[in-house]
Amino acid sequence: MKCYKCNGENTANAKYCRNCGTKLNSKSDTRNSKSADILLISFIGIFLLSALIQNIVRAVDYNWFDSSLRYIQVASWIISSLSYLLIIFAIKNKVFKLIGGICLTLVICYHIYGYIIILMS
Ligand SMILES: [Zn+2]
Repeated sequence: MKCYKCNGENTANAKYCRNCGTKLNSKSDTRNSKSADILLISFIGIFLLSALIQNIVRAVDYNWFDSSLRYIQVASWIISSLSYLLIIFAIKNKVFKLIGGICLTLVICYHIYGYIIILMS
């Protein structure tokens, strides 16, 4: 790859430019940490929004379970469960991402199964 400062040619996995010593890859590192930030911020946003919806449902109708509001409640539970996947996408380490992704998917499936059972009862 080419150094963005001096245009010197370096090997593809070089960390520093052999011409001028500039740290290479810094641009893609910044981009990666930015997209991780966006994922985490969207997680917080979705999480707070679904918490807000759940509180509104409870405030509107104390017996939300007996009304059709329970569909909204369960939908917000499912959305907040799924939002945890955004954290997994923000993990850079591939092994942690894989292990975390598998564990979280199992937990989310189990939760959604439980929500559907509640909805059916
Ligand atoms: Zn250079």
